[in-house]
Amino acid sequence: MDAEISESIGSLVLSAYRKSVNTYMSKHNGQRLHTWHVSDFTSPCIRKTYYQRLYPEKYDAKKNSIFFLGNIIHEHTPLSKINELTMCYDIETDQPVSIDEVLLMPRNSLKTIITGTLDDLLQYGNDFIIADKKTFNGSSGYKKTSPDSQYSLQLSIYRVLLQKNYGIDAKYGCLLYLDKSNDLAESPIPFELLPIEDTKVIMKEILVELCSDKLPKPNVCWMCNGNNRKGAIYCPYVELCKQDGGR
Ligand code: SF4
Repeated sequence: MDAEISESIGSLVLSAYRKSVNTYMSKHNGQRLHTWHVSDFTSPCIRKTYYQRLYPEKYDAKKNSIFFLGNIIHEHTPLSKINELTMCYDIETDQPVSIDEVLLMPRNSLKTIITGTLDDLLQYGNDFIIADKKTFNGSSGYKKTSPDSQYSLQLSIYRVLLQKNYGIDAKYGCLLYLDKSNDLAESPIPFELLPIEDTKVIMKEILVELCSDKLPKPNVCWMCNGNNRKGAIYCPYVELCKQDGGR
């Protein structure tokens, strides 16, 4: 085939594909409520969350491909009738809040409210399991044998929100890891969720840090230590953090 035609066809198909991915992602990103989100509380570095609140990152369509597969999996593999359940909760008053209420509240009243969306809720005898699917790259031979700490906290926070919103107490969590480098090979990692009252204490402590005038302590971790094959830095606030004496 003529090289020019070949290049032109390739770029036509590629641009149609990218357009389609962008359309899918913009439909599935939805509008975020202006509350805290569970991921804000489970970040390995609370200082990063603090910066994010002050200087929100613009959505970068170039990152669509990173989230695309995860979105497709979540959309097409519900594990039970109850899936993609969004819940809101006021950490200070220890009360559930409906999404409709949140939408009517002024922005400055949302400072103590957290929102989370659990993937799936499964019944297990008389108990319940909160399950969450996580894709990861196991190309270096890395296998998942225990839950990542931020994800186990994530599911424990869902336990609080679920109990307050629906009166259902889920004792167990299960992370279903799917290896992108190996045909989505599955590793289910079940574990006991933290007691509800313990999680509430953790949430209150993090909220105090996030609402303080004082910058939270930095946690130099995988997001900014460059200890990966590409030496990549994933925290966009690294320069600011350096100026603030964090690194
Ligand atoms: S650069 Fe590191 S320590 Fe600083 S905010 Fe980002 S993740 Fe936290």
